[in-house]
Amino acid sequence: MARVYNFSAGPSMLPEEVLKTAAEEMMEYGTSGQSVMEMSHRSKEYQAIFDETEANLREIMNIPDDYAVLFLQGGASTQFAMLPLNLMNKNKKADFIVTGQWANKAYQEAARYGAARLVASSKDKTFSYIPKVAAEDFDKDADYGHICFNNTIYGTKYNYIPETGDVPLVADISSCILSEPIDVTKFGVLYAGAQKNVAPAGVTIVIIRKDLIGNAMDITPTMLKYDTHSENGSMFNTPPCYSIYIAGLTFKWIKKMGGLEKMKELNEKKAKLLYDFLDNSKMFKGTVVPEDRSLMNVPFITGNDELDAKFVAESKKAGFVNLKGHRSVGGMRASIYNAMPIEGVEKLVEFMKKFEEENA
Ligand SMILES: *Cc1c(COP(=O)(O)O)cnc(C)c1O
Repeated sequence: MARVYNFSAGPSMLPEEVLKTAAEEMMEYGTSGQSVMEMSHRSKEYQAIFDETEANLREIMNIPDDYAVLFLQGGASTQFAMLPLNLMNKNKKADFIVTGQWANKAYQEAARYGAARLVASSKDKTFSYIPKVAAEDFDKDADYGHICFNNTIYGTKYNYIPETGDVPLVADISSCILSEPIDVTKFGVLYAGAQKNVAPAGVTIVIIRKDLIGNAMDITPTMLKYDTHSENGSMFNTPPCYSIYIAGLTFKWIKKMGGLEKMKELNEKKAKLLYDFLDNSKMFKGTVVPEDRSLMNVPFITGNDELDAKFVAESKKAGFVNLKGHRSVGGMRASIYNAMPIEGVEKLVEFMKKFEEENA
């Protein structure tokens, strides 16, 4: 078996230990005589898996009791609609910082349900930086303010949490959840699709301050109301059981690794290897201003499309897959989520050095 180094932005690598445990438990979970895939979501065994998974996430992320943790479906993209339907209920206004395609989708979707206002954007420089905003920039009457904390496509990350006064701050953390500690209390809602840093696609994690639940617009479909899911322990209908189980294995792995402080330390080490190389290379260069660089997604270019294509093709042959940049921006992107071992990044840098020498 030859596993590749998979630099995909998502779905992406999972920790090998998680995959091994899942494989061992595939035919029979514990002494249940069945796979988790086959289990009733109403069974005692499954409820125990579910409860432990939620408890471990609360512990790892230090989530206070006045926040609900929901395990939903529909991906982060469904949250772009659930947020306005559930939160844009007092003044029918929400404020948005647009730092890339996902942030823009959240903004566009909200505009279908109320007054969505653009507070700031980094479109002027192809989303290569994070705008600095202050509390005064937000409308005091906005029902929420929305940011995308780590921009998967452009490789930027907020190096500060915007101050919004009394306006609840909502953040899409799909591509940075569990990559480093985050102060949950600074947010009204945090949400993330699982397929970047947690589990296979299928489950979407929503961490929401409880006072924000229960005021959905009348038109909101039952399945899209946060209260439907919070009142039913995320089991109003069949949850994405297997994806939640794998999320649970990932949370255990993170605990064993030493928690989010340790993840941050490892992620900073990996990212530094790559950024230091890019900063010193004559051929490759990063596309993001240094102070807003993502720890998870590292886009880079040679400045020559043919050379980019050659690099992507040769790196693939050498066992480094999915280094092609997002179809909208081109170039290359290395996504180095929690599960990417440091050797993967070290070997990639070695490969890039060699490629640079051979193609100078
Ligand atoms: C991948 C991604 C999304 C889309 O997630 P889906 O689960 O496919 O809907 C949204 N936001 C960010 C930041 C992402 O990285």
